Amino acid sequence: MLEKAQQILKEVFGYDAFRGMQKAIIEQVAGGGDALVLMPTGGGKSLCFQVPALLREGLAVVVSPLIALMDDQVATLEELGVSAVALNSMLSAEEQRDIAFRVRRGEVKMLYLAPERLVQPRMLDFLQQLDIALFAIDEAHCVSQWGHDFRPEYLQLGQLAELFPKVPRVALTATADRRTREEIVQRLHLEQAERFLSSFDRPNIFYRIVPKEQPRKQLLAFLAARRGDAGIVYCMSRKKVDELAAFLSEQGFPALPYHAGLPNDLRAYHQKRFLNEEGLIMVATIAFGMGIDKPNVRFVAHLDLPKSLEAYYQETGRAGRDGLPADAWMAYGLQDVIFLKQMLNNSEGDERHKRIEQHKLDAMLALCEETRCRRQTLLAYFDEEMPQPCGHCDNCVDPVKTWDATEPARQALSAIHRSGQRFGVGHLVDILLGRENDRMRELGHQHLSVFGIGKQRTEAEWRSLFRQLVARGLADVDLEGYGGLRLSEHCRPLLRGETTLELRQDISSKATNTKVSSSPASQLVRNDEREQWEALRALRRKLAEEHSVPPYVIFPDATLLEMLRSQPHSLSDMAAVSGVGSRKLERYGEAFLAVLKGGAAQVEKPVVDLRHELVSLARAGMTPEQIASQLSCTERNVYSLLAEALTRQELTLEQALDIPEDLMGQIQDVFLDGEGELPAVSTVAAQFAGRVPEGVLFCVRAALESEFEL
Ligand code: ADP
Ligand code: ZN
Repeated sequence: MLEKAQQILKEVFGYDAFRGMQKAIIEQVAGGGDALVLMPTGGGKSLCFQVPALLREGLAVVVSPLIALMDDQVATLEELGVSAVALNSMLSAEEQRDIAFRVRRGEVKMLYLAPERLVQPRMLDFLQQLDIALFAIDEAHCVSQWGHDFRPEYLQLGQLAELFPKVPRVALTATADRRTREEIVQRLHLEQAERFLSSFDRPNIFYRIVPKEQPRKQLLAFLAARRGDAGIVYCMSRKKVDELAAFLSEQGFPALPYHAGLPNDLRAYHQKRFLNEEGLIMVATIAFGMGIDKPNVRFVAHLDLPKSLEAYYQETGRAGRDGLPADAWMAYGLQDVIFLKQMLNNSEGDERHKRIEQHKLDAMLALCEETRCRRQTLLAYFDEEMPQPCGHCDNCVDPVKTWDATEPARQALSAIHRSGQRFGVGHLVDILLGRENDRMRELGHQHLSVFGIGKQRTEAEWRSLFRQLVARGLADVDLEGYGGLRLSEHCRPLLRGETTLELRQDISSKATNTKVSSSPASQLVRNDEREQWEALRALRRKLAEEHSVPPYVIFPDATLLEMLRSQPHSLSDMAAVSGVGSRKLERYGEAFLAVLKGGAAQVEKPVVDLRHELVSLARAGMTPEQIASQLSCTERNVYSLLAEALTRQELTLEQALDIPEDLMGQIQDVFLDGEGELPAVSTVAAQFAGRVPEGVLFCVRAALESEFEL
């Protein structure tokens, strides 16, 4: 059986070897046994049920919580020549009947379903008449009531054990903790399942956390080394997301905003663009994430601190699913700590809940101030021991110097104490540095004994020290007031001289700008390879558009990279490239060979998204088509930016679009016909197909929506 599995791996998927526990899992499931699979994102969970599905007779049923995830997997399988379908509520009754018909005739190998569909009595009856190869329950943590992705429908999946006693079931998740694991076993009746627990390390992610000084500048330096890469930038607030996306666009980095305050359609549109286009930066709140399966997200940057290590791990984990080098970068400062502590304090909930949240935040802060290997600390939090430092994080690469901060820490605490425990860091630093400004004189603080005792250190050093005092709980933030600092219980021993204090010596980003921004991921493709790389990507993009799938479904980046490096000369060379199965070889082999020979090397210009100019050009009366050519970007891009501008009411519809008045009237009527809610673009698109580009509909809808909200 394993031999057959190996053969399928090569022929269908184009891969040479199984990874990690894949082989053992496949053996268990293909042999008819149940399995519980815990594997990090990007670990290769899909193959764990797809290969057994191909090894066994009958229909494989896959339960997945999100339509987007299902569609992605189905498209990927279809490209590989495996017959797969997703049954979802978007299909018409006729389409559904057709699928049922094909399933009954044995023409479908893999059926993807949402849990609520699967457990409908009619569906269960239908499946019981068929030969079922296996059940795969993806994102199995959704069954856990403790988790944030709880889906009540998952609870009903337990009945599969009784209804299909002979069919193997495999539950998969990337959520690590023990409680969730036990809950999955119990609720899905997987007591007999063999458990496969992988390490949760993401070895291809490089972790870096820098002190926040001038966050935008720091971010730009980080991005400069990653031009053309897709990534996510997380911010805390909607306002900050909007502003930062606009700022990055002005700076020539194509960026889109994403947060819960944007109209649903526009949000979906941005997500779709992020998946389908290359090199876009999504600036987002944490509303962006669930179901983001894009494998070639090259970086995740945090401009604000996540609330917990769980959140940090999950958010950074969206980078590098394809296994290629990726970056997790974060800028963090005292303001983040103050803000989160205040938020926590003002949140609803009982004391116990707040205490738990406080502990989680403390663990996050400890990672930020960690002087040893970040990865060791992160994994230790998830109960995983890593014997050696990883060698692949900032602290491993540029060892952190620590210094004896006992005396200055006492001075700082004393400044807090003597000034009455209500001032913020700015004023405290002024006291220590002896700055005799108006405010100082007003308060009479120039007479304090601590005034000017810290002149031998710089302002940046003092700020770093205060930040670390708060992060370590030696000073507290005044949560009712304006974020002034107070002494905490824990600082007594230090003040009494019973303990000493070692702190991190921050490296200023100014001093080490290049170091701060470079990492293995930023050198994925060498400069001399760039042209051919772009040509390969351009071909992939073209094929993806023709097939209406995201580019990575045609070939993942790792496969393109291997083509680039190994320079195959013939179809048989090409077949040896990892990720080129027989079906794709047949379909695409020649075209990619031609690009490698320098044939069809047409390099498209990178899309530069220039929001500012766009608005002025539109106001000046240019049509979307003219704007696209003026800014050398696609029309699709222009429409999406116009829709944003309309949402922000920077343009009128007349300025933005160039369509006849009566047609405009018709479009508006269709949107306004419904009761209450505006219909989604997808529901009205068919009526205008061929008459106006879809982008026009997004614009009209955005304009109507923002008008109504007034
Ligand atoms: P997960 O669902 O665990 O996040 P995926 O199943 O999407 O991970 O796999 C992540 C990536 O790794 C995909 O691009 C997949 O094709 C690739 N992959 C999985 N198994 C192998 C393997 N044995 N050899 C090479 N690539 C693999
Ligand atoms: Zn390390």
